[in-house]
Order: sequence, then structure tokens, then C-alpha cells
Amino acid sequence: RKLRVGVIFGGKSGEHEVSLQSAKSVMDALDPLHYTTIPIGISKDGRWHVGKGAWKALEAKQPAALPSKSAQNASSPSNRFINPEIQGLSPVEVKRSPDWLPPALVNEIDVVFPVLHGTFGEDGTIQGLLEMVGIPYVGSGVLASALGMDKIAMKQIFSAVGIPQARWVGFTRASWAQDDGRIVREIEEQLGYPCFVKPANLGSSVGISKARNQRELVEAVHLALSYDRRVIVEEAIDAREIEIGILGNDDPIASVAGEIVPKREFYDYEAKYQDGGAELRIPADLSPEERKAVESYAIRAFQAIDGSGLARVDFFVERGTGRVLVNEINTMPGFTRFSMYPKLWEASGLAYDKLLDRLIELALERHAERS
Ligand code: ADP
Ligand code: MG
Ligand code: MG
Repeated sequence: RKLRVGVIFGGKSGEHEVSLQSAKSVMDALDPLHYTTIPIGISKDGRWHVGKGAWKALEAKQPAALPSKSAQNASSPSNRFINPEIQGLSPVEVKRSPDWLPPALVNEIDVVFPVLHGTFGEDGTIQGLLEMVGIPYVGSGVLASALGMDKIAMKQIFSAVGIPQARWVGFTRASWAQDDGRIVREIEEQLGYPCFVKPANLGSSVGISKARNQRELVEAVHLALSYDRRVIVEEAIDAREIEIGILGNDDPIASVAGEIVPKREFYDYEAKYQDGGAELRIPADLSPEERKAVESYAIRAFQAIDGSGLARVDFFVERGTGRVLVNEINTMPGFTRFSMYPKLWEASGLAYDKLLDRLIELALERHAERS
């Protein structure tokens, strides 16, 4: 029997569209001789669409799409998680989403590939749902996903294991409201200008700005606080941006490294998703020492958060000094055929479809080890 792979895409995230691109590549590449692909789309308002119509339902971008066929079935007691004793109870209206677990997800899927980026996808929430249901899934678990998503927690863990990174200051909306003057002074004393201001929990450069003076700093903090209740500010590093792929569970391996050359002031949303916004150079031109540092810090970073399956670890290699600093780890990196992560593995001898086979294998291994 073929392995039934549920590919989850879309999601309640600023990176919804990016996820659609990644998932399309994944679904096109899953070999129909070995896999039955079950598309599972999550709309921006959190509705689930399972099966053939899922792709269309999301593309239609109807903000309040009618519940799909499977949604209507969901209230029937076919869901194996409904205790027979409570089946007789009359259904209650559920106001929160996901307002139901699609029975197809629960009963008919062997492994899930959550091709979701950002909140409610890359941050441990969908991973938690899949743990509860007991379905193996590709990529990191709850802890690693949450740590990879939260730039403050991530940096705390990295410094605990001695991974070099830019200096930073983190604070909450409440502490900013109580005493913004003290926080501004701390940033100016410890980091100086220019500095980078970021919402703690986001990706794709959304809500990130470079501040060159106090006025820009305050403006940037307000922008970041509109996305998240926690904000991180970092010293700006004048650096080349180097990225490397990690693959594996307990014995992860590193791909060749690649370099991002943004055509804009920094690698912002436009540079990431506009054609020609950035150039990818694979392999990156690094000295043997730089290459070794990138590889070993990447594996250390992956293990520090207890990553599994895959991750892309992003670095700054400082101009002039050659200092190698970790910027971040992404537990569900962009996954189109043209994205950095798959291209790094292709350059390391692992083609896109073989990479998918390996990730699915790792998902099943991880599940077996944990149960
Ligand atoms: P995201 O998770 O949204 O990708 P990043 O922390 O990677 O957020 O920041 C996005 C981009 O902003 C980086 O790729 C880089 O171009 C720039 N950037 C972020 N932090 C710094 C920094 N401390 N120094 C220099 N550039 C930075
Ligand atoms: Mg990121
Ligand atoms: Mg980044």
C-alpha cells in the first residue's frame, strides 16, 4: 500500500502565500508511485479544507468560505477521538478554529508534511496538534519549532550553548509602555545605531526595520509591537549572509553553504519574494575556517533547540573581521524548488524528490522512537 502523505499548506500566517508556493512544489514532486498525496489547506481565517478541493478553496481566497464536504462530515461521530459515551451528546457550537479536526486527517493519513511557515505552522502549534492526534510529521517537534520561531528564546538558548551572535535587547509591550526611555537608553548604550528592530515571533522579514537614529528606533519599535507583544533589537552587523541546510534527527548532517546577496538595503520581504530581489550563490565562497565554523555552529544550533528533520541555519559573516555569527534557525524554511534549502541539498547531491523521501523517512523514524 502506498504511503498516504497529508500536505498541509496556507495557514493563519503572514506567510500564507509563501506556504502555497512551497506546498505546490512539494505536491508536484511527491512520486505518485510511492505516495498518495492528500492536500490539506488552511485558509487565512483558519478553516480546514481536505482533499481534492483544498487547493481551489484557498486559491479562491474567499474570506468566509463555506465549510467543505469534510467539514460537514466532521460533526458525524466517525472521528476516532470521540469517546463512544459522549457521542450521544448534542453537538455544541465551537467558536474557535480549528473548529474541528478533519476526519480524513485523523483516520486516513500516515504522515503529514506541514509546509507552513510562520505563526500557527512553524511555531509548534500545528506540531502540538499532530502530537495529540498521534500522526507522524515532517520536521521539528513542538519545542524546537517554538524555539526557532521566537527570536528571544532562540537567542537565549544559543548563548547558553556558546553560539556567537549579535548583541541584542528584548522587551515586552508592557515594559515599553511603562518606561520607553529606559529601554531606549539601554539600546543606545549596548547596541548603538544602526540597529535592527524585529517582532520576536515572525518570519519573512515582516515587521523588521533598520533604525539609524532615535526617531527611527521609536517608530520601528511601534511597528514591531503592532505584530507581536515582544520585540527584539539587535546591533546591525555589516556582513555577508550565509545559509546552510541541516538534515537528520539525532545525527544531523550539513549541506554545502550558500550566500544570499540582497539587491536591497537588507534581505527584506520584497528582496525575498520578488524575482531578482536577491541572488543565491551556491556554494558560498568561504574560507575553510569560515566553512567549518558555519557547519559546526549550524549543527550545534540545531541540537540546542532539539531540532529534527530539517532546518536552515542563517549566519552573518562579518566583513573585515570574518567573525561568524548565527542570525537564526528556521525550522520550516522556504521549500519551493528554487528556495535556498532544497537548492543547498541539490548542490550537495540530494535531488528535490530524494530530499522529500528522506524527510518522510525521518518523520517516521522520529515517530517510532518517541512512541
Ligand atoms: P526573518 O526571520 O524574518 O527572516 P531575520 O532576523 O533573518 O528575520 O532578519 C531579516 C533580514 O534582516 C536578514 O536576512 C538581514 O538581511 C537583516 N538583518 C536582520 N538582523 C540583522 C542584524 N543584526 N544585522 C544586519 N542585518 C540584519
Ligand atoms: Mg526567520
Ligand atoms: Mg531570516
